[in-house]
Amino acid sequence: VLDARSGDAWMASNRPDAVFIPRHTQDVQQLTRLCAREQIPITARGAGRGYVGGCVPQQGGIVVDFSMMNRIIEISPEDGVAVVQSGVITGDLQAAVKEQGWFYPPDPASLKECTLGGNVATNAGGPRCLKYGVTRHYVLGLEVVLADGSLARVGGRTHKNKTGFDLVGLFVGSEGLLGMITEITLRIIPHPPSRVALGAMFFDPTQAATAVNKIFANGLLPSALEVADKLTVKAARAHLGEHPLFSGEAFMLIEFDGHPHAVEEALEIAKQVLKQCGAKKMTAAHDEASCEELWELRRQCSEALKKSGRIKFNEDVVVPRSRLVDLFQFSEALEKKYGYGVAAFGHAGDGNIHVNLMLSEDQVRDRPRLHRALDELFEKVLSWGGALTGEHGIGLAKMPWWHRATSATVRMLHQQIKQALDPKDLLNPGKFV
Ligand SMILES: Cc1cc2nc3c(=O)[nH]c(=O)nc-3n(C[C@H](O)[C@H](O)[C@H](O)COP(=O)(O)OP(=O)(O)OC[C@H]3O[C@@H](n4cnc5c(N)ncnc54)[C@H](O)[C@@H]3O)c2cc1C
Repeated sequence: VLDARSGDAWMASNRPDAVFIPRHTQDVQQLTRLCAREQIPITARGAGRGYVGGCVPQQGGIVVDFSMMNRIIEISPEDGVAVVQSGVITGDLQAAVKEQGWFYPPDPASLKECTLGGNVATNAGGPRCLKYGVTRHYVLGLEVVLADGSLARVGGRTHKNKTGFDLVGLFVGSEGLLGMITEITLRIIPHPPSRVALGAMFFDPTQAATAVNKIFANGLLPSALEVADKLTVKAARAHLGEHPLFSGEAFMLIEFDGHPHAVEEALEIAKQVLKQCGAKKMTAAHDEASCEELWELRRQCSEALKKSGRIKFNEDVVVPRSRLVDLFQFSEALEKKYGYGVAAFGHAGDGNIHVNLMLSEDQVRDRPRLHRALDELFEKVLSWGGALTGEHGIGLAKMPWWHRATSATVRMLHQQIKQALDPKDLLNPGKFV
C-alpha cells in the first residue's frame, strides 16, 4: 500500500509513513487539523500519473490519496457547469458530459487514468488546448482544504466572477503546495457537431515546423495541430507498422471541429497550404471513427518510442511559435553532440514540444552528462523566451532549473504566498518552493 503511493510516472520515489483515503471533504479537514497539530507532512495524490515526481512524499508523512473521492456531483447543461469531487478520472467526466451533448475539452494523453484534481493542480493541457485552452480556462470554482484544516470556497458556478483576487488561478497549477482540492466546478461547452482530421507526411521536419505558422496565416484555427520528427516516425514505423503518415521523416496531424460545412472547407484549405509547404502523402479523415484511427496512431508514438529499447526522458518545453523550426533544428544538433536519440513531437500549434532524450542504459548511468544535455536544452529554450514546462509542472524533476527559469522577485513571491497559506510547510514539502 505504501510503495504503491511512493511515486508517479517519473523516476523518483519515497515511501510515505501512512496513506489516508478520504471519501468526504470533512475527512480531509480532520486529517489536516491533526497533521497541523502534530506537524506531519501531507502530500496530495490523484492517480500518480504525473511526469515530474510532484506527488512523491519527499519528506514522508501522510499521502492523501483522492482516488475514492470520485463522484460526479452534478452536470448542469443549463448553467454550463459540471461539479465533481477531485478524484474523478478526467475521461470519465468527458464521457459523462458527452452523453448529454456537452464537452469538457482539456485532453491530457493520460486522461483515462489521471484525476481532475491532479489536472487542476498541474494545470494540465493536451492537443485540443490549442483551440480550447488548458485546464485553467475551465475551472470556475474550487473547494480547497487549507493547511490548518479550514475550508475555502473560491470562485463559484458563474462563468464570470470578479470578486477580489483571482484565487482560483492561485490554486490552479499549485502542485499540492497551497491546499488540498476537494471539489471542482468546471465550465462545460456544447459538443461540436463534427470533426475532420488531416495527416500529412513530410520528408523534412523543418518543413513541417514551417508549415505550422502558414496554417494560422491562412486564417485557420485547428482544434489540434501536432508535429512529429524523424526519430518518432522511425519508432512508429517499426512498432505500429507501415502507414502513409509514417512513410517520410516527419508528420503533421491537424484536426478541425465545428459545423460540417465549415470543417470540410477548413480541411480543403489546409490541404492546399500543406501541399505548398512540401507535404507529400496526405490522409484525410471525415468522420469520428476515421479521425480516432489517426489520433490513435499519434497517441501510440510515445509507446513506440518506449519499445525502441532505449530509456525515454520526456521533457515538455514550450517555445514561442516563431521558434519551432529552431527547436527542431536544435534537437537534431543535441542528438549529434551527445550521441543520444532525440525524438521531438507534440503540440506544435502552441509551441509545446515533447523533446524526448532516448538513452541506452550505459548513457543513463552517466548522470552529469545527461544533466548537461538538459542544461543546454533548457538554456536555449529560455533564451528564446520559452518555458521549461508547458504541461507537467516543476515537481522534483525540474527543481534543478527552477532558479534559472524564475527571477529572485518571482521566487520571493512564491515563498511569501507559501508562507501565508502554509506557514509550517506541511503541504507537499521538499518541492520547489
Ligand atoms: C502516459 C502519460 C501521458 C501524459 N500526457 C499528458 C498530457 O498530454 N498533458 C499533460 O498536461 N500531462 C500529461 N501527463 C502528466 C499527468 O498525467 C498530468 O500531470 C496529470 O494532471 C496528473 O494527474 P494525477 O491525477 O495523476 O496527479 P498526480 O500525479 O497524483 O499528482 C500531480 C500533482 O498534483 C497534486 N495533486 C493531485 N491531486 C491533488 C488534489 N486533489 N489537491 C491538491 N493537489 C493535488 C500532487 O500533489 C502533485 O503535485 C501524462 C502522463 C503520462 C504518464
